Amino acid sequence: MRVVVIGAGILGSSVAYHLAMSGVDVEVIDEVHQGKATLAGAGIVCPWATKVTDPEWYALYAAGARYYADLVESLTRRGETDLGYGRVGALVVSEDRSELDAAEQRIQTRIADAPEAGNVRRVSAAEAKQLFPPLREDLDGIYIPGGSRVDGRLLAAAMTRAAIAAGAVLRHDHVSLELRDGRARGIRSDGSPIEADEIIVTAGAWASQILRPLGLEHPVRPQRGQIVHLRLPGVETRSWPVLLPMTSHYMLSFDDSRVVIGATREDNAGFDYRVTASGQAEVLNAGLAIAPGLASGTIIETRIGFRPAGDSFKPILGRVAGLEGLIVGNGLGAAGLTIGPYAGRLLAQICMGEKPDTDNALYAPASA
Ligand code: FAD
Repeated sequence: MRVVVIGAGILGSSVAYHLAMSGVDVEVIDEVHQGKATLAGAGIVCPWATKVTDPEWYALYAAGARYYADLVESLTRRGETDLGYGRVGALVVSEDRSELDAAEQRIQTRIADAPEAGNVRRVSAAEAKQLFPPLREDLDGIYIPGGSRVDGRLLAAAMTRAAIAAGAVLRHDHVSLELRDGRARGIRSDGSPIEADEIIVTAGAWASQILRPLGLEHPVRPQRGQIVHLRLPGVETRSWPVLLPMTSHYMLSFDDSRVVIGATREDNAGFDYRVTASGQAEVLNAGLAIAPGLASGTIIETRIGFRPAGDSFKPILGRVAGLEGLIVGNGLGAAGLTIGPYAGRLLAQICMGEKPDTDNALYAPASA
């Protein structure tokens, strides 16, 4: 079987990895658009604290986090260890005790069947500040030892490299699709047709564009995220937990004295790839209000990514009924670095005719 995967973000690279590991002949084609979400994503992997209650979305979110241990182990076995992955814990903070009580209850209910979250416990403001030194002094917290962070760039690159080592081919090109005899057919930018038994579209926020010529109205739009990276020269940040205030902003740290503050969620910016004054101000103000100790950090970059945001939170994963040989994976929204590796495995299972680990009927794309 010959499979072409269009788009090599976290989702496409996971599909390619899992297919190649099963001996499938895979070609991955990626245009690397400006604003590719995987290159900008923060990298928080901690589903248990979310306020979102959609059960079908949460099922994938939690499964995605659970899958990380297996994935990291299987990549490590193949010599891929540079993933920016760390089980550094997560710290939910608030100045409002009743808000923390409600969060603790929510988390405890969810982790009843998620031992990977570890032994969740309340921490005092002093302990919270010890764990994340730039933090304000008056914020109590809930510590979740199983929370982790990953560098999406490194993880996607590692999965792609491992796929290539197993025989996959990676090309950088723009692909378009056309309808031919009841099937989708891929066309390269030089006009030549792509031979494939199966086409898997994992094109992120650009998926609607590539699916439209097939007559498919695909409900995914770009949601712009601006995310600021700071360096704290000489400060050892590698083991700081992910910081989750009860807002849409957050912080996380990496090995190179880097602290990341995220992020805007802009639904009406289209594919406008710019750092804006208001975006930068929003993120910095939110970050410094929670962690004033970051005020002297050096701004090293602001990344921009277009999250593939659907009408609902629920990802779209599966075969397009009515068109032979076409599979779509999309709509991972703000949780794609958590869900993507697991969802990629599901898409590979669907492609190979295996029963997917999670019933994908719930996530099926609209039919042609
Ligand atoms: P992408 O990574 O966007 O990849 C799609 C690829 O398809 C691109 O390379 C594009 O060039 C290619 N493509 C499109 N059309 C074509 C074509 N016609 N031909 C060839 N190639 C094509 N998730 C979390 O779990 N935790 C987080 O902390 C987190 N933080 C985030 C913070 C920000 C600021 C942003 C923007 C996102 C964040 N996310 C997070 C979400 C996550 O990054 C995304 O959901 C995920 O990366 C989407 O992956 P994807 O593979 O679907 O799309």
